[in-house]
Amino acid sequence: MEEKKMNKGTLCVQAGWKPKNGEPRVLPIYQSTTFKYETSEQMARLFDLEESGYFYTRLQNPTNDAVASKIAELEGGVAAMLTSSGQAANFFTAFNICEAGDHIVSATSIYGGTYNLFGVTLKKMGIECTFVDQDAPEEEIAKAFRPNTKMMFGEMISNPGVMVLDVEKFARIAHRHGVPLVVDNTFATPINCRPFEWGADIVTHSTTKYMDGHACCVGGCIVDSGNFDWEAHADKYPGLCQPDESYHGLTYTKTFGKLAFITKATSQLMRDLGAIQSPQNAFLLNLGLETLHLRVPQHCKNAQAVAEWLEKCDKVAWVNYPGLKSNKYHALAEKYLPNGSCGVLSFGLKGGRDVAIRFMDNLKLIAIVTHVADARSCVLHPASHTHRQLTDEQLREAGIAPDLIRFSVGIEDVNDIIADIQQALG
Ligand code: PLP
Repeated sequence: MEEKKMNKGTLCVQAGWKPKNGEPRVLPIYQSTTFKYETSEQMARLFDLEESGYFYTRLQNPTNDAVASKIAELEGGVAAMLTSSGQAANFFTAFNICEAGDHIVSATSIYGGTYNLFGVTLKKMGIECTFVDQDAPEEEIAKAFRPNTKMMFGEMISNPGVMVLDVEKFARIAHRHGVPLVVDNTFATPINCRPFEWGADIVTHSTTKYMDGHACCVGGCIVDSGNFDWEAHADKYPGLCQPDESYHGLTYTKTFGKLAFITKATSQLMRDLGAIQSPQNAFLLNLGLETLHLRVPQHCKNAQAVAEWLEKCDKVAWVNYPGLKSNKYHALAEKYLPNGSCGVLSFGLKGGRDVAIRFMDNLKLIAIVTHVADARSCVLHPASHTHRQLTDEQLREAGIAPDLIRFSVGIEDVNDIIADIQQALG
């Protein structure tokens, strides 16, 4: 059977590492910075990108490549690259497309770290970002575009607002303006949604979340669909469509076709910025990926039960989970995430901010941690933790109420999770 046609569960377990006769069944950790060659001429060909092969782990490593290729297959993309973190994945993606003087249009309701990256750090590098309400009508969002806009960005399910992106709408707007749509698919994972099937061009991940799933290692990944026609907008994308002086005048789109984006990110950005994922972490990530198709449905099932319980509880002011019929994003979730959204939900308690903090302090099984999306249930108060750098106005724009408790429902027995919530409320 052709592996490309295999189902996601099989890809989770077996894609990426294909041992030859007598080789280890389990993906080995290539714990080596360097790779040996017989002649200096061969090594030179590798440096000139005339031949593919490994020479230095900052650029490529066989363990990392096997895991990247598994994620690329899961997303239905042509190529992928692992990065040291999800932040690095989004930074490298933006910087692989944009340079000083360029502009990005991004949904406002995104992870606080990415909001800062786009709004503050990229600005210092000469790249500006306009944030838009992802639920606004197309004509309204289109007004944010400028002649120098080079990319559009949104999160499939936003962190922490758990808002579902109308990815088809975003893709239409992006393509009408001749720019690629980048979707951060961290919370949905390819098990629940493949944004490429809805028009996204590039997908990013914080693999730190469900993909690893055990809170073991920080990591990221960039996947390219190979669908965006950079050459059709060659004047906008000189970095991809014009000769790269730092690579002997090679033009990525001409030499590498559909692999241009990931090859440039690897050979230019990884070479110069060096945010590689360690092979040890890539190995652990691969173990997580082997059970992704089992864990994600369980997270969703538990989160649905917890959300329904909270909705009925008289101490709870509001619950936000796309799986609830009452939710603003339920229709979008049914369209894009028919098998479930994610294990993350948010809610507020009657009594507001102080009650929320007391409730969290009373939890026993569910831990307060700065993390989401691993096997263990955990909570966080974004206004006092992850998003504390945002003003109240910015918090509201990002869809975060001051009393919002972000709850990452794990894969423990759901009765024990609900019992812990119940006793903490008591
Ligand atoms: N994207 C999303 C949706 C996230 O939730 C996060 C982190 O929480 C990131 C990116 C950044 O990832 P990392 O923490 O791996 O750098």
